[in-house]
Amino acid sequence: MNDLYRLLPDEADALVASLGEPAYRADQLLRALWHTFPASLDEVTTLPAALRARLAAEGWGVGAASEMRRSVSEDGNTTKLLLRMDDGTLIETVLMQYPEPGRHPRSTVCVSTQAGCAMGCVFCATGQMGFERNLKAEEVAAQAVHIARVLRARGEHITNIVFMGMGEPLANYGETIRAVRLLTDRRAFGLAQRAITVSTVGVIRGIDRLAAENLRIGLAISLHAPNDALRQQLVPTAGPHSVGDIMAAARRYFTATGRRVTFEYALIDGVNDTPPLAAELARLLRGSGIHVNLIPVNPTAGGFRRPARPRVLAFERILREAGVNVTVRVEKGSEIAAACGQLRTRESPARVDFEPLTPPGAASPPAPRRAALAPSRSPRQ
Ligand code: SF4
Repeated sequence: MNDLYRLLPDEADALVASLGEPAYRADQLLRALWHTFPASLDEVTTLPAALRARLAAEGWGVGAASEMRRSVSEDGNTTKLLLRMDDGTLIETVLMQYPEPGRHPRSTVCVSTQAGCAMGCVFCATGQMGFERNLKAEEVAAQAVHIARVLRARGEHITNIVFMGMGEPLANYGETIRAVRLLTDRRAFGLAQRAITVSTVGVIRGIDRLAAENLRIGLAISLHAPNDALRQQLVPTAGPHSVGDIMAAARRYFTATGRRVTFEYALIDGVNDTPPLAAELARLLRGSGIHVNLIPVNPTAGGFRRPARPRVLAFERILREAGVNVTVRVEKGSEIAAACGQLRTRESPARVDFEPLTPPGAASPPAPRRAALAPSRSPRQ
């Protein structure tokens, strides 16, 4: 089946023209796909039945992610979905909501770009499950479409999308960019480019390609260490790319796009959270304009622990006093294993097939299996 959700608007125009149909049929098709979120071609009722039949005969259809499980955090603001793609591949997608008095909540969707991940960051559950396959652009978009459908039923809508779920987006470059275009084109999903952030562990070539795309999306780079020796231990696949290379790529991205880069720094107790490392990070970033997001590492991470709160605040203070723009990420969803570094599909498709949905507000799923890493893998222990 060729998924109509894969088509960029100019490709939809070309398809409609190739069928000898008037141009406005493409607009009807796109509006139906991206505004009414049909789950099948039969639901695209703005197109004549004869045209739908012809599209179906030529192998076109409407793909959809099937929701296998829904887990909701205690405060109701974080929802993790286990979604199954058409071939049975399982991935996780997270909705994070930020209540705003008197208004609809800000609703950020964290999408996955790969099933599993090959980057092997030692504190990340996805990295420990290994790489399964790249997701196609329409499968990335399907995650947003599915959540948009859920939110629409409540009179709400998606306000931001972050490519920070399972996988390294820039290792699946072409499909990631196509997904960004599907999600931001005015004739498709239509989200503002500024509302999108792509996160990378530091794929330099991908960052430079992204800078040349004429997109104004945000970029987050997972740094996790201020020097190469420590970073190589935390991100074993960082390869030949040094911290200096990453700094240079971040500057090039800012110059090309006008969008400042955020560095993500997972704080791990006794590993990369010491005052000397904070001072080293401050020296690296002072005057760069780069924003640092400190993320106390979440459970499931192979024996690594998050630092105690005073230690986190001390690290933050050293950066702040050096003039570095820094925030500590608000923790969301760790009790349902929906937070950073916790996404991991534990089930085989066969088992999940028969599992009922967990209704919103129901009990959380069982605690995730711990990653197999022994704490001794921690570089400073
Ligand atoms: S942190 Fe990101 S890049 Fe690293 S293993 Fe996890 S999903 Fe992959």
